[in-house]
Amino acid sequence: MEKLIKMINDDILSLEASIKVKSKEMNTVKMNRGDIVDIASASQQHLDDTTDINRMNSRLDQLKKALKNKDLGICESCSDDINPKRMLALPTSTECITCAEHDYATSARR
Ligand SMILES: [Zn+2]
Repeated sequence: MEKLIKMINDDILSLEASIKVKSKEMNTVKMNRGDIVDIASASQQHLDDTTDINRMNSRLDQLKKALKNKDLGICESCSDDINPKRMLALPTSTECITCAEHDYATSARR
């Protein structure tokens, strides 16, 4: 699972870099010049950036949490390897797609 850990670490690094860039951009937005339209669009932009940063931060949290899992990338139901693509899409996955779908089908029938 070293490859997966490396992929997750790379993702963490690039997310941290993106967050840094975004925060810097936000700090350089000039809110005190231009007319009301500029101010309105600047604050909308600020809101979008804040949403972006929040989204990246929550993914960062998930990735860091995933790294603490000693069974990272191993299905807790069938002990098979979880597809790395699935792990990156959903870093806190503890089941492979087959088991997760099976669980979903079972609970949907209830
Ligand atoms: Zn499984």
